[in-house]
Amino acid sequence: MARYKGPVCRLCRREGQKLYLKGDKCYTDKCPVARRNYAPGQHGQARKKLTGYGLQLREKQKVRRFYGIQESQMRKYFQMADKMQGITGENLLKILELRLDNVVYRMGFAASRAEARQLVRHGHFLVNGSKVDIPSYLMKVGDVVEIREKSRSSAKFKDIIENHKGNTVRWIEVNADEYKGRIAAEPSREDIDIPIEEHMIVELYSK
Ligand code: SF4
Repeated sequence: MARYKGPVCRLCRREGQKLYLKGDKCYTDKCPVARRNYAPGQHGQARKKLTGYGLQLREKQKVRRFYGIQESQMRKYFQMADKMQGITGENLLKILELRLDNVVYRMGFAASRAEARQLVRHGHFLVNGSKVDIPSYLMKVGDVVEIREKSRSSAKFKDIIENHKGNTVRWIEVNADEYKGRIAAEPSREDIDIPIEEHMIVELYSK
């Protein structure tokens, strides 16, 4: 599936906020959003007032970029969220949070979602004891993710475990010493730290 391979910092600048796509660099003063907080390109500094469709589109693109999701996948998740009980926008964010690549990132086993996706694809993780190399695999409450035994001795994972900062979100329990984490609860809207107005995405897809 086609994936964006251009400079990712442009995506944050386009959305006008940090999307934390680059790992550690995002927390330093080298972050381009902190230094040049306007859209990239020749007309980036021209002021544009968005209304209606434009605002909805930007909110949707922001979420797609934040989670690294293609448009077709996003629509599929929206249809799933629409069929679930509860608020569709919140359901959509919950589904995205429960993707394996996001869970690995939330557990602190990767510096960014992009890195988590790559590590999952390379088969470094087990889910409930079985190898899963599909980043979009949807996790459930009670599922356990662990770093495969063979991978634990690699310099990369040793470094990750040594510098592990403990639990990153309430709904995941992490035991870094045992190289594993467990989904303790479903993520609620308050747990999802993305600055987004998800109702706009619902409005966009409901047209
Ligand atoms: Fe976005 Fe991180 Fe690049 Fe800053 S450093 S623009 S937050 S990807």
